[in-house]
Amino acid sequence: MNQQRMSKRDRRYDILFEPKDIGPVTAKNRFFQVPHCNGGGYRDPSAVAKMRHIKAEGGWAVINTEQAEIHPTSEIAPFIELRIWDEKDLPMLQRIAEAIHAHDALAGIELCYNGMNGPNLYSREVPMGPINIPIGTFTNDPVQAKAMDKQDIRNLRKWHRQAAVRAKRAGFDLVYVYGAHGFGAVQHFLSRRTNHRCDEYGGSLENRARLLKELIEETREAIGDTCAIPVRILVDEMLGDGGVTNTELREVVEMLSDLPDLWDFTHGNWADDSATARFKDEAAQEQLVRGLKQLTCRPVVGVGRFTSPDTMVRQITAGILDFIGCARPSIADPFIPNKIDAGREDDIRECIGCNICVTGDMTGGLSRCTQNPTFMEEWRKDWHPETMNPKGPSDNVLIIGAGPAGLEAARALGQRGYEVLVAEAGTELGGRVTKESQLPGLASWIRVRDYRQYQLSKMPNVSIYFESELNARQVLEFELQHIAIATGARWRRDGVARYHLSPVPVDETAHIITPDDIMEGYLPRGHIVLYDDDHYYMGGVLAERLVQLGCTVTLVTPSVRVSDWTTNTLEQHFIQKKLLQLGVTIVTAHAVTKISRHQVEVECIYSGRKSELECDSTLLVTSALPQDQLWQTLSAQKDKWPDAGIKSIQVIGDALAPAPIAWATYAGHRYARELDTEIDPDAPAFKREVVALSTDW
Ligand code: ADP
Ligand code: SF4
Repeated sequence: MNQQRMSKRDRRYDILFEPKDIGPVTAKNRFFQVPHCNGGGYRDPSAVAKMRHIKAEGGWAVINTEQAEIHPTSEIAPFIELRIWDEKDLPMLQRIAEAIHAHDALAGIELCYNGMNGPNLYSREVPMGPINIPIGTFTNDPVQAKAMDKQDIRNLRKWHRQAAVRAKRAGFDLVYVYGAHGFGAVQHFLSRRTNHRCDEYGGSLENRARLLKELIEETREAIGDTCAIPVRILVDEMLGDGGVTNTELREVVEMLSDLPDLWDFTHGNWADDSATARFKDEAAQEQLVRGLKQLTCRPVVGVGRFTSPDTMVRQITAGILDFIGCARPSIADPFIPNKIDAGREDDIRECIGCNICVTGDMTGGLSRCTQNPTFMEEWRKDWHPETMNPKGPSDNVLIIGAGPAGLEAARALGQRGYEVLVAEAGTELGGRVTKESQLPGLASWIRVRDYRQYQLSKMPNVSIYFESELNARQVLEFELQHIAIATGARWRRDGVARYHLSPVPVDETAHIITPDDIMEGYLPRGHIVLYDDDHYYMGGVLAERLVQLGCTVTLVTPSVRVSDWTTNTLEQHFIQKKLLQLGVTIVTAHAVTKISRHQVEVECIYSGRKSELECDSTLLVTSALPQDQLWQTLSAQKDKWPDAGIKSIQVIGDALAPAPIAWATYAGHRYARELDTEIDPDAPAFKREVVALSTDW
């Protein structure tokens, strides 16, 4: 019996486990973790190393770093990635490469020269691009890139070569040339949008591709004996004839064909390529990539938020890709390859396409994942995505509320081996995700519930009780040792949020609706003023829902943009465009100040000038109130806990402090990890890396 048949793998998926050469190295299977940011970068290198190590353990054949800035003339502070500027960066990079090698995975590094995309706010160097033009960042920094002269181009090539040599010394097997997402200089030279040069680096496609060609050749010459040289390139700039078109890119692939060792295809800018499930489906770039593989003898990788093994297989059998590229799916479940190999594809924790992971990078925080609460906690907290710490001395836990916080707590405690009872007031699991996944574009969010529901169904030590709205008396009667209150939150009806910290004046006759009303089936009619002082997805999603229901919608927000915080999930542009297309009237920089039966008074947040809007109802998407009455009652009766056999009661998730779903799954997981452990409330709850002081003082 051969190796394959000894595994429990479904034969249909065998092709995903065939090895494939990438230049001088060999990938053991087709699972390829493409470069992705994580918010940790050079600030948290051990956290990054352990996160990549866990993916190696999970079976990925190739694991890449996020972008590594090759030179101080091109850095993207405040965003935190990796740096490979000089020898000082090597120990950090070596640790990452070693961590990846520990499970026979190949380690790749994405060398990056951001060029006209890096404002150099940290290094204070003058940014450089193909032409003199304002640098293109998320924050409209008031800085221009100088046009590179021939010496600048020679320098860039030299720095790239030096970085490649360092990358090889750090132990990397794949060393990328990067020209995608609007971030890499290679793309800036390639695109006629950003390259108006008249020399041999501008004009014809051949000239615009010259830098790319030189970088591939020089990297190969420097390190190609042992390292593979992949190229990450955009297959369409998504700007029509003004930018790199798909046709043009096909010409580039034909022209350079076998020069790189692998082609790694992305499309558009980062928002296009990492679009949320709200705006793009699995395998979204398939049409743009189809046929490219036939233009080269080199292997091809592409992304598409792949979570279905059948879709992955089709990418290969249909001759579209050789490797299944994943960033977000590998974050949500670092063990996808091993699970498929073991015939456990039903256990895959599928990415929901929410882009909370991206927000870690965009905000300068640390990335987190809605589905995988252990992401970027692998080293800091020693959390493993597949295993839990052993059970402690206690025996049983009651979890009240089966939303994302309660479900994750139950799953993780069940895995630890506790006897777990879940009491849910309603008739189904999932709490807010079950409700929110009914809204336009959010269907995939139900995966948060489905993954946990399936895991719980396999645990004999977990019992779930529906239609069990518990009160304090009942809780005290149960004689269970630990109680987690995960009873969630409800949207406010009084307008209190960021702009108004006290209730907005509302006439008795006014008709107020909240998101909960709509999610619970209320059908509004007529003209609705939707007041969004929440600024995340709910306002925009409900505007869409109201239009579906036939309402006329005016969206009022004190922000200058619709769904402002979704800039961090890369959705803001798509959302505002969609609402405009749907005919939603958008009133920005205004706050609702008074609500009457058929009129809403609004004021300009700058001038204070007041005006009135006609409406039939007002939908308040403002903030939420924790549903913590049960907790309040029980905490007031603390003296009764010992007699009731209770060792602890904790409130977790939205019932403690409302936040996005990722915060709730994290809270549930943390509760489960920390039960029966000693916690020092005075110390940081995680390990951290502190900068080593220079001896040159
Ligand atoms: P979170 O995001 O923190 O998990 P959710 O609002 O999604 O919170 O879920 C809370 C769940 O708790 C809901 O399914 C709700 O029906 C349930 N619930 C609320 N109060 C009680 C209670 N007293 N007893 C049992 N279940 C409750
Ligand atoms: Fe997927 Fe959301 Fe997790 Fe990112 S945060 S990996 S999009 S589930």
